[in-house]
Amino acid sequence: MIISFLIRCIREVSWRLLFKAGWLWCFKSFFALRAFKNRNKHDILFPPFLFFSLTTACNLHCRGCWVTQEKGHNVSPVSLPLEKIERVIQIGQQNSVYFYTLLGGEPFLTTTMWELIEHHPEAYFQVITNGQFFDTNNVKRLKKLGNVSPLISIDGFETENDARRGLGTFIKAINGCQELCRQKLLYGVATVVTAQNFESVLTEVYIRQFIELGAVYLWYYIYRPVGMDSASELAVNREQLSELRKRLLRLRRKMPIILIDTYWDAQGKAVCPASKGMAFVVGAKGSIEPCPPITVARNFLDDNNGDFYKTINESNFLRHFQQFVRDRYDGERSQGCVLIDYPQELAEFLRQEQVVDLSGRNFLTELDTAIPKTSHFLPGEEIPENYWVYRLLKQNLFFGIGAYG
Ligand code: SF4
Repeated sequence: MIISFLIRCIREVSWRLLFKAGWLWCFKSFFALRAFKNRNKHDILFPPFLFFSLTTACNLHCRGCWVTQEKGHNVSPVSLPLEKIERVIQIGQQNSVYFYTLLGGEPFLTTTMWELIEHHPEAYFQVITNGQFFDTNNVKRLKKLGNVSPLISIDGFETENDARRGLGTFIKAINGCQELCRQKLLYGVATVVTAQNFESVLTEVYIRQFIELGAVYLWYYIYRPVGMDSASELAVNREQLSELRKRLLRLRRKMPIILIDTYWDAQGKAVCPASKGMAFVVGAKGSIEPCPPITVARNFLDDNNGDFYKTINESNFLRHFQQFVRDRYDGERSQGCVLIDYPQELAEFLRQEQVVDLSGRNFLTELDTAIPKTSHFLPGEEIPENYWVYRLLKQNLFFGIGAYG
């Protein structure tokens, strides 16, 4: 598999972009993780990677999306100001952070996305997008910049995808993939595994279509029932999770594409990136949140006169959150997703922490009424990575790179 994958990359991706990704993403991330491990030894809390939620604006209304635009007259979407992000990046780089994931809403609806990527050729950006904006000009511009990899959300074949993301979105995203492939960009596809699409998205046929479209990586997420239309029936059950793990291991040995999950480490133990302190989210209102679906905060960019490092390191909330997660699972060794397994306890904890709810909904009440499901914490069913490539990647690179559950 690895040889065919490398041949694919050489043939299908611009060499300049491969070099940039190798240097700015892989090489620098390796050192970011080393610096992070060092900080951990000294009980310093500061992540090796960061998310920026650039805006709450979006052109779609997907089921189960946790980003909500506030309702009411004259209420416009909120966007994170460029100068605030620049300040965070400056502090990030002083601490070896060079990989940033840009989220929305839809990042392509902002000019900030372009400005950030342009202003920071020394950093690498992953843009999580719904894939509706890849016309020839945008793709050309991304290619010219080079320090960016789009990650397009596609949740199954056309019927399944459009049922969740809206009619016509599949075809448009696939057209976008074709343009990215034609111009030889390094890009990936993100697929949320639900109870509905489980049987189709974990198959060779599904993966092969993206290989044919030139995608270099396919990132699997597990559906989180949150948001206005949380659709808890889409959540996968324990048997499916266990099967998901097995299928991923099998497909990884076979398919010439990188198949990413950020749920299990090289030993097959469950991981919660937020509880490990791998990547926090700077929300559109300047809030510092534990992870993308947990849209609450106690700390903001303006705290401590804008000293982002001090704000994170001294955040009682983020540290208490880590402890809260560890207490519910197997301590340091293995953690699932509290959002799925313990929604009521999480609501209680967040109330005690007196967090500010930035969801634009009533996140805590949603948690109160959520039905607990099973997350990726599967004690007794841990399966270690059985392919050396992925063992190596998981030990040295995967975790935290845009990781969330
Ligand atoms: S979604 Fe769940 S598993 Fe993922 S980082 Fe947040 S709390 Fe942890």
